[in-house]
Amino acid sequence: MLNIVLFGPPGAGKGTQSEKLIQHYGLIHLSTGDLLRNEIAGQTKLGLEAKKLMDQGVLVPDEVVIGMIESKLDANPTAKGFIFDGFPRTTAQAAALDNLLLQKNTTIKMMLALEVTEVELSKRLLLRGKDSGRPDDQNPEVIKKRINEYNNKTAPVADYYRKQNKYYGINGIGSIDEIFNLLCKAIDK
Ligand code: AMP
Repeated sequence: MLNIVLFGPPGAGKGTQSEKLIQHYGLIHLSTGDLLRNEIAGQTKLGLEAKKLMDQGVLVPDEVVIGMIESKLDANPTAKGFIFDGFPRTTAQAAALDNLLLQKNTTIKMMLALEVTEVELSKRLLLRGKDSGRPDDQNPEVIKKRINEYNNKTAPVADYYRKQNKYYGINGIGSIDEIFNLLCKAIDK
């Protein structure tokens, strides 16, 4: 199986590149942000609880996202592989993912980390907020909070994969196709 963690701060281009990677490699896209937004749209209890945190730009509890990922893995037993987008965001999530995959006799092949400067990120997020309709992309304070959460809780996840020799840094500034080509090169090596 080809299991890839697509990593990077909010606005790095994970969603855009995930769409291209799943088409090219025939993988399943697992975005915890999208799964949470579906719960919000369905007005489920989980969605309503998560929305309060997402609107403030803070992470939802580990158990919630780990549970969602577990059910998606169970629901796709014949998948060729998965792109994990926006997950894992804490080292506890990374360890839980390793355990879930181990139970299925598979593992993460690599973490592809999109590297983008903070100035560029804020610019991209505010632009995206104009047409994405995402409330958390429209408020500069919430964007700042999300980038803080990333620096404090999520950036350490890169070390988790570095220790396993699975970390690949990719320049996330350039055209969509340029970045996609860099990602493919790293995967195909
Ligand atoms: P995203 O679409 O990945 O930018 O996620 C939007 C928001 O959903 C984040 O700011 C968090 O509040 C929440 N979220 C998404 N994925 C996770 C995760 N793996 N762990 C905790 N919170 C998450």
